[in-house]
Amino acid sequence: MKPFASAAEMRAIPRSQEFRNGGVSFWFRDIGLPERRPALPGSADYDVCIVGAGYTGLWTAYYLKKAQPDLRVAVLEREFAGFGASGRNGGWLSAEFAGSRRPYGAEGDAAPGGRGTGRGRAGGAGGGGIGRIGKVGRAGAGAKAGTGGKGGKGGKGGMVALQRAMMDSVDEVIAVAAAEGIEADIVKGGMRLVATNPAQKARLITEVEELHTWGYWPEDLYLLDPHGEPRLQVDGAVAAAYSPHAARVHPAKLVVGLAAAVEALGVDIFEGTAVTEIQPRDGAVRPGAVTEGGTVRADHVIRATEGFTSTIQGWRREWLPMNSSMIVTEPLTEAMWDHIGWERHEVLGDQAHAYFYAQRTADGRIAIGGRGVPYRFGSARDDRGATPPQTIAELWRVLARLFPVASEVPVAHAWSGVLGVPRDWRPTVNLDQESGLGWAGGYVGNGVTTSNLAGRTLRDLILGRRTDLTQLPWVGHRVRGWEPEPLRWVGTHLVYGLYRGADRRESDRVSRTSRLAEIAGRIAGR
Ligand SMILES: Cc1cc2nc3c(=O)[nH]c(=O)nc-3n(C[C@H](O)[C@H](O)[C@H](O)COP(=O)(O)OP(=O)(O)OC[C@H]3O[C@@H](n4cnc5c(N)ncnc54)[C@H](O)[C@@H]3O)c2cc1C
Repeated sequence: MKPFASAAEMRAIPRSQEFRNGGVSFWFRDIGLPERRPALPGSADYDVCIVGAGYTGLWTAYYLKKAQPDLRVAVLEREFAGFGASGRNGGWLSAEFAGSRRPYGAEGDAAPGGRGTGRGRAGGAGGGGIGRIGKVGRAGAGAKAGTGGKGGKGGKGGMVALQRAMMDSVDEVIAVAAAEGIEADIVKGGMRLVATNPAQKARLITEVEELHTWGYWPEDLYLLDPHGEPRLQVDGAVAAAYSPHAARVHPAKLVVGLAAAVEALGVDIFEGTAVTEIQPRDGAVRPGAVTEGGTVRADHVIRATEGFTSTIQGWRREWLPMNSSMIVTEPLTEAMWDHIGWERHEVLGDQAHAYFYAQRTADGRIAIGGRGVPYRFGSARDDRGATPPQTIAELWRVLARLFPVASEVPVAHAWSGVLGVPRDWRPTVNLDQESGLGWAGGYVGNGVTTSNLAGRTLRDLILGRRTDLTQLPWVGHRVRGWEPEPLRWVGTHLVYGLYRGADRRESDRVSRTSRLAEIAGRIAGR
């Protein structure tokens, strides 16, 4: 297959008359952009100040207030709640955890070139979330226990505990949504991963076997007949695996509902309030979040800004803002759905290096995401979600290849968003008691569920509780920042170019993973 779509191909894509590109996301177009809450009126004092009203910030606020209702909590948001990746994602509420399975704190963690292979679902390319781990990192023997910070459990046991906690988090989100009356089109139909060539198939089979030693027991992830029941007709699928630990969600409904629930608990959410600097404790002066309209002082200030972190002074090279893009079709006809099946509404992905992620929406559309322009020079962001025509064409090509019957259906909307990628591609949650600063993120493309785990963990850390959650190995993990430009840009584009090359080679029906993907993994430092 040609690497890029031609101008003629781009023009040939069916688009609905109301086609939109950007405007945050289809999810917000569907429910309408929210009215802004008031901005911070001036300097103020709180017990906890959270920067960023995505899932991470909101889950943290939610669990803090639930645990200690008299706590004074403020959330400062530059735009509106859900403006970031939380209102734009693929709606995979899954147990996938980004990053390698190599235990946290193990040798080579902070250095590039380790053999970790993890990736996030929306990252668009790379070595694997749960189902797409090229090779599982070395574990057990020789892995140092502990993670720094709170001294979390190291070794393989810690990684298994983390994986099980992710599965619990899927159910936790569903339970809280039900308890709070958040209608987010949630269907726990599981996750199906397909392989569409022999190399992908070989990877899928190996990975399922290996994951059975990393917290996925046989009933948590297994191979199934790609053409068996319950049917999901993916053209060209030669193998498939299934995990029940995932749900389809409407991302914007979830984040908007969560913000309302948080507010109802007494949290103050200030929108249109950009934080320019986060200050650590300085002697008797408490930590602070500095905005144009004033500074919020609190005992703890939590950074929950994920792909936008590079805009905050002092954190410019912490997490790379990586783009992921999506398109959504108009609703399919009943006859098309009869052909495709997909009655279980499981979230769907593949085993390519530049993989896709998809869902069947509640109103019968296909939303599919994946590769895009991975990274813009100097960590620049296009934060309204406008997506290059080339990316739209590439996504549509994947859609038409997998679901030829849907290729006549007009595309209704395209958008993009940013996710946060740490130098070692491994998520972190942390609270530094000395400075009073905490943070969570670096989820790559797997933050919908991980942010819930982060929120509950930050609650325990802030309240000084030592719990199972605070012992998980990702707590307190530290990694060095990204290289300065132009190395960052060159490296990212090289890695993505190699992954695309690997996919092209594998589509020629070679039966093993392309060497190009291994080289890409090394350069990426996974
Ligand atoms: C296209 C796409 C598809 C994805 N698909 C999936 C998926 O299917 N499943 C999955 O698990 N993950 C997916 N992800 C990743 C997932 O959406 C994110 O990991 C998750 O939403 C991160 O939540 P967050 O709250 O940490 O960050 P965000 O949702 O990005 O929230 C950060 C907030 O901070 C605000 N902010 C930033 N800077 C400042 C500042 N200086 N002052 C004040 N506020 C500020 C932003 O406006 C934003 O609202 C996807 C991401 C994208 C972009």
